[in-house]
Amino acid sequence: MVARFDVVTIFPEFFSVLDVSLLGKAGQAGTLEFGIHDLREWASGRHRSVDDTPYGGGAGMVMRADVWGRALDDVIAAQPSPCVVAVPTPAGEPLTQRRVAELAQREGRIVVACGRYEGIDRRVIDHYAQRDDVDVWEFSLGDYVLNGGEVAALALIEAVGRLVTGVVGNPASLVEESHSGAGLLEYPAYTRPPSWRGLDVPGVLREGNHAKVDRWRRDAALAISAARRPDVLSRLLADLDRDDRAAL
Ligand code: SAM
Repeated sequence: MVARFDVVTIFPEFFSVLDVSLLGKAGQAGTLEFGIHDLREWASGRHRSVDDTPYGGGAGMVMRADVWGRALDDVIAAQPSPCVVAVPTPAGEPLTQRRVAELAQREGRIVVACGRYEGIDRRVIDHYAQRDDVDVWEFSLGDYVLNGGEVAALALIEAVGRLVTGVVGNPASLVEESHSGAGLLEYPAYTRPPSWRGLDVPGVLREGNHAKVDRWRRDAALAISAARRPDVLSRLLADLDRDDRAAL
């Protein structure tokens, strides 16, 4: 399984949150390793500049291939393990739980190259895509534009890291989740008190009949998926039985 994440960024301070919560504990226990690298260490000149104006003109700045090349060569060479270079970009493949699960199963590590400004000179991606020892993967958090790749890097690290054995205490909690297991969105959850501000926990969840609870949860997951994500439901239609179809 993936055991290490390296991030190259001009804002290493973004990643102080990796010391917190389950990922923080996994880092302290050595289950996961994090290497956060400041891109400017590979920049030269008094200003340690990492960007320049775009060929062809236009607004904004582009991150320089020579700086990124030095940084990625060093970060990749520092560890002998197989490596995915993940490049956040709004023009990338959508980040999905299926892809996250595949990445978590891979041996080695993930190096995330965080762009800023108008992004990274295209030749960087093309160059590393030619290397046999590296898989380059451009991914998007969604159909909107962020200022930089750092938030996307954190989302990727948390989504993949929590699937690594030992990071989440109870692995069963990873199975019945939205986009996992059955692939549906998850049913609603409730805890004490049984009545709050005039809203009651559904009676079936308090009766102790596990078969009925399972049926209620499945029906709720189907209804939520149909209402919010018909695209998710339509991919699963062939797997639905008669009871499932009756719930829709
Ligand atoms: N000019 C680029 C475009 O239109 O595709 C957007 C550049 S954006 C302002 C700067 C950086 O933010 C990108 O290089 C990328 O690293 C990151 N970014 C922005 N939106 C993202 C998204 N939806 N998913 C992943 N990364 C994103």
